[in-house]
Amino acid sequence: MQYIAPLAKLIEQFRRLPGIGPKTAVRLAYHVLAMEKQQAKNFAEAIVDATEKIGYCSVCFNLTDCNPCRICSSSERDESLICVVEEPKDIVAMERTREYKGFYHVLHGSLSPLDGVGPDDLRLKELLARISEGRIAEVIMATNPDVEGEATAMYVSRLLKPLGVKVTRIGHGLPVGGELEYADEVTLSKALENRREM
Ligand SMILES: [Zn+2]
Repeated sequence: MQYIAPLAKLIEQFRRLPGIGPKTAVRLAYHVLAMEKQQAKNFAEAIVDATEKIGYCSVCFNLTDCNPCRICSSSERDESLICVVEEPKDIVAMERTREYKGFYHVLHGSLSPLDGVGPDDLRLKELLARISEGRIAEVIMATNPDVEGEATAMYVSRLLKPLGVKVTRIGHGLPVGGELEYADEVTLSKALENRREM
């Protein structure tokens, strides 16, 4: 059966989302059509609004609606610390602990040769430039505790050590193969507290 064109287009858009298979895409599209018109409009506007107002911070590459972001603009943070994470959502996880008071750097991924992700695909040059400014005493590698995250932490540590900066790794107590964003605050606080030098 062929879907009428506007419906087929809507289904196609849902199919592009991660974790959405063909059946779910159809179900979601019908759900949207069954919504109150205003509710559907709010949904569409929220997507447009978010994509138009949110971009990357030019310093740390976190998602932000002002540049530099609120964290990078803060005068109450420890200038000697940078915590390196894979994704913007990991910053939210670290902030939830309320333990960490330094700055961040988002790599936007982890090294994964099998998926064709190499050093040039991550925000490494920008990290090196920040460290070269000389104010940073410690870089905390808070990449995920999985194979790619560990490999990335090792790689970055080798890259940074010649610059004379201390590189540490969180991880103690974090479930191996897990993701930072799903770790609870207590586990993540402990992992941060028990970081070890690489
Ligand atoms: Zn920032």
